[in-house]
Amino acid sequence: MRSVRPPAAHLARMQPYDPKYLPARAFLSANENPLDVEDKLRQEIARELKRVPLNRYPDPLANELRDQIARAYGLRREQVLVGNGGDELLFDVALCWGGPGRTFLNLPPTFSVYEANARLTHTKTENVPRRADFSIDEEAVLARVARGDVDYVVVTSPNNPTGNAAPAGFVRRLLDTTDALVMVDEAYGEFCDESVMPLLGDYENLLVLRTFSKAYALAGVRMGYVLGAPTVIEQLCKVRQPYSVNALSQTAACAVFRNRERFAPAIRGIVAERERVLGELAAMPQVHPYRSDANFILVRVPDAHRVWERLYDRGVLVRDFSGNPLTADCLRVSIGTRQENNLFLGALAEALGPSERKADR
Ligand SMILES: *Cc1c(COP(=O)(O)O)cnc(C)c1O
Repeated sequence: MRSVRPPAAHLARMQPYDPKYLPARAFLSANENPLDVEDKLRQEIARELKRVPLNRYPDPLANELRDQIARAYGLRREQVLVGNGGDELLFDVALCWGGPGRTFLNLPPTFSVYEANARLTHTKTENVPRRADFSIDEEAVLARVARGDVDYVVVTSPNNPTGNAAPAGFVRRLLDTTDALVMVDEAYGEFCDESVMPLLGDYENLLVLRTFSKAYALAGVRMGYVLGAPTVIEQLCKVRQPYSVNALSQTAACAVFRNRERFAPAIRGIVAERERVLGELAAMPQVHPYRSDANFILVRVPDAHRVWERLYDRGVLVRDFSGNPLTADCLRVSIGTRQENNLFLGALAEALGPSERKADR
């Protein structure tokens, strides 16, 4: 076989994104909604999908969906942009506000995609790590942006994987301190009472990200959106893939967004389950759960990787964050159905039980 010359040098240190999907009885590793779209709405979607022309290109900007979203938030179409999952829009932000000679401010531990996008776009990443309890080191962030070289910041609220929301007062102070683009990633915003959306009218440098993948049970459809100033959206339109959002996804997302009220009880149920699971975890010896404003909980346990294995042996897949020094001994568990959560709690109690330590494996 003839060989190929090496790829771009910056790929050498990179690994493909791996969600570590494994078959399991309780799939609690990806922060999805445990309940799929209900039957009646599914049928409505199926009827509409049947009528979608497959031979024609879709509307590149998905204007029908854009208008629906704009109307819901009292914005104009020019303040909304949809993408192939929030992930595409995160990359577009790095393409627009990052680049060679430019700087991204990251607040780790947080979603790993931001740093990967910075690398891909030859953007320098500066870190202001969170405190031990994963709250944002607000004064350090404000001091860092005051130096003037930061081009964009991502504030994840609620944060993944730690679960805590950023105080709205902090986001406002940040927006007042810098003209850097401040992307507030509210992928889990529907599980939390706070949103920075009310600030949109006041700040050109605020961009809010939301997704259909979590609360709205459409992770398989790939649909996310950003809300921001028309001047910012216009830049993102320059770098986006013209037909990234396919016609089937546009149709499904329109139907779900139109019917979003129907998801409210399920969202309330997930939040109630989160509080119940938090209480159960807090009562377990050796287990330290962090409070959460999202649909998952970060838990610190002794010998976390071993616990992850023992949970998996019992059919429960959670996400292992213990390889990252900032989340040493931490596992992240998504809130599932009540049965799935009970399976997890039972498996965790067993996994931590000392008597079995030597016996299994
Ligand atoms: C899940 C997630 C997203 C977006 O996911 P998509 O499925 O691409 O919409 C964005 N940010 C964070 C922090 C997430 O956890």
